[in-house]
Amino acid sequence: MIFMRTSNQPSVDNLLLLFYAFPAEKSTQQTGTRSLTIAKQEDGMKILRAHFVIENEINGKAILRQLERYGRVCYKSEEKITDDSAADFIRGIIASKHESVIEHEKITVRLICDRGVTHEVVRHRIASYSQESTRYCNYTKGKFGSEISVIEPLFFSPLSDTQEVPVPLRWGQRTQPYIADYAPMHLNEFDVWFMGMLFAEWAYETLINTFKRSPQEARTVLPNSLKTEIVITYNLREWRHFFKLRTSKKAHPQMRELTIPLLKKFKKMIPAIFDDIIAEE
Ligand SMILES: Cc1cc2nc3c(=O)[nH]c(=O)nc-3n(C[C@H](O)[C@H](O)[C@H](O)COP(=O)(O)OP(=O)(O)OC[C@H]3O[C@@H](n4cnc5c(N)ncnc54)[C@H](O)[C@@H]3O)c2cc1C
Repeated sequence: MIFMRTSNQPSVDNLLLLFYAFPAEKSTQQTGTRSLTIAKQEDGMKILRAHFVIENEINGKAILRQLERYGRVCYKSEEKITDDSAADFIRGIIASKHESVIEHEKITVRLICDRGVTHEVVRHRIASYSQESTRYCNYTKGKFGSEISVIEPLFFSPLSDTQEVPVPLRWGQRTQPYIADYAPMHLNEFDVWFMGMLFAEWAYETLINTFKRSPQEARTVLPNSLKTEIVITYNLREWRHFFKLRTSKKAHPQMRELTIPLLKKFKKMIPAIFDDIIAEE
């Protein structure tokens, strides 16, 4: 899709032609199970897929052995430790809801996702977080490519059918702006989302570059889809709780997009701990 800004005179008496959208010029690139649209545009904006990185090296068997050593202190049953006793012991601990034992081990994960998802993640309180700051990061700077990055929502397909929709064409009244005119265009749901992103980016850049506002002031116009990074550390009990809530069908689809594959990865890496948590697919 090509978007072109047709005027750069936002203050001229009130009639600003904002964007013209032309029919799609899309290329697709296979990333994982879905195809990511690479939008070609003159203004620039990175569109990324949500993903995760497990930050610490994980030796699942070593973790289980440690947990068994700690847990058996409760029963003074250390003499029962064998080369392969740990997984069954931990399964028993979890079945009897003696979960404080598994709090002794933690895992750190980085999520690269949108700010809607991290807003939900940080509601989990038994946690440590470090998150990319929209107060201190200035996306108009070269190290960010002088552009914002956004996360592609999995539910708006770039290949979906278009409909004729009214698109704001001209704006009136600088002192109290309103949409003065609409033009009918054929857009699909992805196009509409993308136009919202472009407008947000335009407002952010204009506040910083033209009006010399700070990133912490200009961030007011940034979208929920803004890409963010958050480093999360939970102990294993909290990870279990998190997965139970956040892989459920009641959880947000963009949350599940991350948590279901992350749970699968954890199950592979660490035996026993997550066996009883079944993601609703
Ligand atoms: C499907 C879904 C929909 C949601 N919708 C909304 C919504 O509309 N609005 C909204 O505001 N939130 C919503 N939430 C967030 C939700 O209310 C919780 O804030 C969030 O899931 C964190 O869960 P938590 O409090 O169990 O866990 P954590 O903070 O991860 O805590 C883990 C556990 O520790 C214990 N615990 C932690 N702190 C305390 C405490 N202060 N007192 C007593 N026990 C404590 C509890 O047993 C808790 O379950 C939603 C969550 C889900 C999964």
